[in-house]
This record gives sequence, structure tokens and C-alpha cells, in this order.
Amino acid sequence: MSEKIIYKTNEEIELIKKSSLLVSDTLAHVASILKEGITTAEIDNVIEDYITSKGGYPVFKGYEGFPASACLSVNEEVVHGLPGKRVLKNGDIISVDVGVLMNEFIGDSAYTFAIGDVDAETLKLMKVTKESLYKGIEAAKVNNRIGDISFAVQEYCQSRGYGIVTELVGHGLGRELHEEPQVPNVGRKGSGKKILEGLVIAIEPMINRGKKDVKVLEDKWTYATKDGLPSAHYEHTLVVRKNGAEILSSFERIEQAEKANKNLNSSYY
Ligand code: MG
Ligand code: MG
Repeated sequence: MSEKIIYKTNEEIELIKKSSLLVSDTLAHVASILKEGITTAEIDNVIEDYITSKGGYPVFKGYEGFPASACLSVNEEVVHGLPGKRVLKNGDIISVDVGVLMNEFIGDSAYTFAIGDVDAETLKLMKVTKESLYKGIEAAKVNNRIGDISFAVQEYCQSRGYGIVTELVGHGLGRELHEEPQVPNVGRKGSGKKILEGLVIAIEPMINRGKKDVKVLEDKWTYATKDGLPSAHYEHTLVVRKNGAEILSSFERIEQAEKANKNLNSSYY
């Protein structure tokens, strides 16, 4: 990770947007094929095929040695879930985190899906986590500080009794997947680096239904909650413009595909 924030030109932002929208299209495609009985390895293959067929590269593949194309985290798994033999069951939720490299620039976005009869408490966790992402985005404006984003996410989730994961954070991105600054989901108002025009970041709340504590599983990648309760995760790539944040990824097409797939539960929003 480079030490300085690399502000992006409009040309670079356009390329980041293209990559981010390919991520969104990929997540929408995933939304159309998710169902109980599918394994996370099968989902990962679908993701890799989709991205490469559109001329992108699944940038997580090989990143620090990560052996798959996407991070697929089921129920108590928080993030960095390693795709494999796990079979999706009715009542599961799954966070699908995808990164695309295309034209030398990266987009990064994640979405959590509910398979069938997910309990009301977990559906509410998903709703609040998604809403907290937008609270964070609202705080991403010129002359605010990174801590204002963190505080907005934290306050929204903590006041509703959820555990906020602090081991992992949002981040700057561009030519690299992880650039400065780090964007934690917990922080003090008015703290951290000042936000300037042209800042491109990914904001990604990782919120637990129970306690905030997480552990890394034996596969050495997957983070999971210590108490075994479910965790939700949503992420957008965005740029800070003169008059506020512009979201470069999009949930619109994902939500359409989610609603159209009868195997998914979209009653939570
Ligand atoms: Mg991501
Ligand atoms: Mg990210």
C-alpha cells in the first residue's frame, strides 16, 4: 500500500467507474443464479467466467495469494470467505465481494443475499448494514474527514445493537486494490485525513448480528464471527466530487435481479 493518497483525474475516474460497473453487472448475474444447493466454488466459477467474458480480470485472484476469484462469505463468515465445497441452504445469507481490474483500474463492490426463508432478525441486519453504507457515503464530502464516514457507519449500527467489525476496513483504490486512506467502520467525528475532491474510496461496513469479535478460520482466509451469529457486508466504490459523493458501482441492477429471482428473499428492504 502506498503511503500517500492518490487523487484521481476525471479520465481515471471514468475507468474506475467502468470496472466498478462490471463488478455490479457481475453481482447482478450472481443474483440471477443463486439458489439453495449451489456450492460457493460453483458461484466462484460463474464469477470468473462472467468477468473474463467481459474483458476484465477478477483482481482478488492471486492477491496476496488468494486462490479464488471472489470472496464468498456465508452466514457467520464475515468477509474473505474462501470458495469451496460449502453448499448454500435455505435460510442462508451470503456476502459476495468482487473486484475487477480492467484498463489498469480497479472497481470493488460487495452485496449480501438472502436464500429463501431467512429469519427476520438476520434480514434486519442486512437492511441496517446496507443503510449504514449510505450513511457513510453521505459523510464522504469535501472538507469532512475520514473519521466522519467511520462515525456515521458506527453510530447507525451501534445504536441498533450490532457488532461492528474493526479488524477490516474500507480503503482507497485505483491502480491498486488497496490504497490510502484506510476507511474504518468505527471512528471519531472530525478525526483522520481531510476529504478532498477526487478521492476514490470503497466504503464497506461489515456488521455482526451479535458481538463484534471475529476469528480467522483454518483455511487462513475466511473471517468468521466468534459467536457464530451471522454477519452482513455491503460495499460501494465512490468518488468525492465538489458537491458530494458519486457512487461508481451500482446496486440498481443487482436489486432488480435479486427481486426477479424467486430463490432469493428481498423482503428486507
Ligand atoms: Mg470488496
Ligand atoms: Mg474493498
